[in-house]
Amino acid sequence: MKYVKNFECTVCHKIYDKNELIYTCKECGEKGILDINYDYDEIKKIVNKAYFKNNTDFTMWRYKDLMSIKDTDFSKSLKVGWTPLYESNILKEELGLKALYIKDEGLNPTASLKDRASAVAVVKAMEENAEVISCSSTGNAASSLAGNAARMGLKTVIFVPKRAPQGKLAQLLVYGAKVISVDGDYKDTFKLSKDAINHFGWYNRNAAINPHLVEGKKTVALEIAEQLDFNITDWVSVSVGDGCTIGGVYKGFFDLFSIGLIDKIPKILGVQSDGCSPFYTAFAEGCPLVEADENTIADSIAVGIPRNPVKAQNAVSKSGGTWITVSDKEILKAMKNLGSKEGIFGEPAGVAGFAGVINALQQGIIKNTDSVTVIVTGNGLKDTVNALKAVGKPIILKPDLHELIKYLK
Ligand SMILES: *Cc1c(COP(=O)(O)O)cnc(C)c1O
Ligand SMILES: [Zn+2]
Repeated sequence: MKYVKNFECTVCHKIYDKNELIYTCKECGEKGILDINYDYDEIKKIVNKAYFKNNTDFTMWRYKDLMSIKDTDFSKSLKVGWTPLYESNILKEELGLKALYIKDEGLNPTASLKDRASAVAVVKAMEENAEVISCSSTGNAASSLAGNAARMGLKTVIFVPKRAPQGKLAQLLVYGAKVISVDGDYKDTFKLSKDAINHFGWYNRNAAINPHLVEGKKTVALEIAEQLDFNITDWVSVSVGDGCTIGGVYKGFFDLFSIGLIDKIPKILGVQSDGCSPFYTAFAEGCPLVEADENTIADSIAVGIPRNPVKAQNAVSKSGGTWITVSDKEILKAMKNLGSKEGIFGEPAGVAGFAGVINALQQGIIKNTDSVTVIVTGNGLKDTVNALKAVGKPIILKPDLHELIKYLK
């Protein structure tokens, strides 16, 4: 919190004091998502390359000075962050890219990038002495909140749409959350959770509404930059639902650019499913966002009304990136490719960012001379039903060597 200057409404730019306990702008209401401003001149004095070199905390808390939290004892929390950034072995050559890096966020404690936001939600709730945290989620925000809260002894009430994959539901129940499976889509789920949070006064971990969450998510960008020794790639690709993740990715690079640790912000590729693409549609048609259907196997990005539109749109426009869509078929193909050629297993929304890169290459948006980082946002084990659609079923043989030899011929 030391280096936080103030909060600023992304819509009307009204400034709020950093000690005011508000979620959204008082003038703009729910649409007035706040952004957190930092005193980069002060941060610059302590955060430099040596600061990172001497940092022995290999979790997201290594970036605590760049975040909107109080400095506290983080040693008891789950180990979120410092996931591997792999240089591609095979796909780089196949695609003919100058460089390809894959950030595997599925290796976080509850197996998605959402842990970076949920860990912050838990810390903030504890700062405010809240005992119950609540959110609505397409699945991963929920399971990560449940896990991170369980570890710190906080209770969670979670709202998920009934379509949420079994893996994510199982996580929620194992982590001991009170789970409300809403008979409706994500839009209905969000509405009910909002009403309930207002009614009961729980701590709110809802995407976008809580400005601290993007500050947690941005640590993925800080890490990518650090793991690349601050020589960042031309492009960074990420899948988009509510828009908090992509907003966080931009914010992380913006922080590093502002303190002079990187000399450019990478172009950010925002990838949506063609079955649910409100951002892409608004971009392609040059019109305001309109509500979209939620028809895709990539459940984590099936968000018909994105809750963080301004941060998401700024991330793409200010970085000089673009929006793109991919089909479910392309997502499944990307899943198989990443799994069989790099050993990285992502859920459908997790690999959509990679599918977007292939598409962008075909369209000439990304060039062969470009370097690219892909963020795999969630683990494939969360949704094996869709994974099996990508790869089919194995052969069944009698326990007989001759049969096996015949088959392997
Ligand atoms: C939540 C999520 C996203 C998208 O993040 P938003 O902030 O909703 O845009 C992408 N992939 C996975 C696996 C997610 O869980
Ligand atoms: Zn406002």
